[in-house]
Amino acid sequence: MNLIFKKKSYSFKLSTKVENSKTSFLAKSGWIIKLTSNDKKIGFGEVSPLHKEDLKKCAKQLNMIPEYVEVFNLSEQINIFHPCIQSAINSALAEINGKIIFKGKYDFDEIDKTTILLNPEDVIADLNEIKKRQSNIGKLVTVKWKVALKNNHDEEAILEEILSQIDNNIKLRIDANGSWRREIANRWADILKDNKNIDWLEQPLNVDDIDGLTELNKKIPIALDESLLKFPNLIDEWKGWQIRRPSQETNPVKLLRELENKKAYISISTSFETGIGKRWLYHLSSLQLQGPTPKVPGLAMNKFPHSFLFLNESKKIWDQL
Ligand SMILES: [Mg+2]
Repeated sequence: MNLIFKKKSYSFKLSTKVENSKTSFLAKSGWIIKLTSNDKKIGFGEVSPLHKEDLKKCAKQLNMIPEYVEVFNLSEQINIFHPCIQSAINSALAEINGKIIFKGKYDFDEIDKTTILLNPEDVIADLNEIKKRQSNIGKLVTVKWKVALKNNHDEEAILEEILSQIDNNIKLRIDANGSWRREIANRWADILKDNKNIDWLEQPLNVDDIDGLTELNKKIPIALDESLLKFPNLIDEWKGWQIRRPSQETNPVKLLRELENKKAYISISTSFETGIGKRWLYHLSSLQLQGPTPKVPGLAMNKFPHSFLFLNESKKIWDQL
């Protein structure tokens, strides 16, 4: 199959800063790519690197892809490229080949449909706001708290306050982004191991400390995030929760198949994509919710500005870019 390859770059500002123990950013850049087959089928993909440092590398590699290319040559060529480029091309090919068929509409707009990120500046005030809103809707709400931003003593005090204030209608995810030492992670695991409100501790230890993470996972549910990006073979090996980011994986069709085959303990997470990448996030999230271990995805809905970039019609995004 012969293809026409086109790309356009984008950048946008998030509504508020995204902050964790390792990084903070307010702007996001990437590329939308468009593949057109000789029988005029179109597939879109998004190159959405999470780290600014990767943009230059991606730009250089994208410039190496010719405008007119044969599918086999393209697949061969991208094998050594950045995972985000592989993800974009494989996504677009999957769309052309009908391996993924998006629905016209997905329903993730309401407060209880995705995780709510707590404001790290004032976690308790934010939680109280959410509790107020939550009592209006009366449904289960999931909140996520990014930790290892302050000293551990202060954060344990905040944890105590959170635990005294949440009832059965609130689920909590705690994400250390790989910043805790084993000693601290074990303290938190001991405090939280019998708590019914906890979904999981997310990447409590360094990406490389798989032994430490495996030990902790015996005590309390541990979700791997950054470790899966560095060691993708863990996707088939890790016996616990996995935070999965379709735009960061070399081929999101693997993730699609896993969810179609009802694999458990997967949670879908955004890497702050435009409407192009969002189609995969929504599609995979809706499959996840029909699976054996349904959990709301982390889509950071309140972080996106109002812009054509987030429309749910790919063609309109492409044409206006
Ligand atoms: Mg995470």
